Amino acid sequence: MNTEKFNQFLSQISKESLAVIDVQISLESYYPIAISSQNKDLLQFDISSSSEWETYIKLFLEQNKAKVAFGGYLEKRNIYDRSEYFKNQLENEKRNIHLGIDLWCGENTKVLAALDGEVHSFKNNKNYGDYGPTIILKHQLESETFYTLYGHLTLASIEDIKIGDLVLKGNIIGYLGDSSVNGDYAPHLHFQIIRDLEVNFGDYPGVSSEENITFYKKNCPDPNLLLKFLV
Ligand SMILES: [Zn+2]
Repeated sequence: MNTEKFNQFLSQISKESLAVIDVQISLESYYPIAISSQNKDLLQFDISSSSEWETYIKLFLEQNKAKVAFGGYLEKRNIYDRSEYFKNQLENEKRNIHLGIDLWCGENTKVLAALDGEVHSFKNNKNYGDYGPTIILKHQLESETFYTLYGHLTLASIEDIKIGDLVLKGNIIGYLGDSSVNGDYAPHLHFQIIRDLEVNFGDYPGVSSEENITFYKKNCPDPNLLLKFLV
């Protein structure tokens, strides 16, 4: 299936928004946030500090009477400059283009399976600025196979699971971790769709370089095809 057809297929899976966090938080309390290098707010604080991020996100949510701030697909971000893990000597090979959607909300928020599937893999990705505890689900719908990745979870989220565990759409698969385990970020879920996972296991790049973005755009469709948040 070509990219266009596959994206159409994804968007037709559900008419309604597919929940990936606690359904008690109504969609009306979701608010879009841009944390690209264009956002002037980010010049006002130390963006390498997770505690300053937490303060910023809390204030942003309060000001917008929201409970979840979401966004970030294909967003070019400066925050990754703080970690060697994303760096490269060459500017266009520096990984700074975000491939998932982030949902910024409170730690310990329930994380739900977007669709029926099974646990493909899980891992604690411990690099500075990485996902921390991560779960990848495998989905088979009609004749298509694809994956969803849930990053920045609590350690407990990956303690009692096994590869091949079956999950149903809406099942709780974990909880959001805090900055001590989630790669040192304000609590948020990184949700990403992956078509071809290749040999990856419990991990997959969530950020691309300019150089590789054509490939990643195709392999990691817009999560909003499933989440259907209004922007
Ligand atoms: Zn993310």
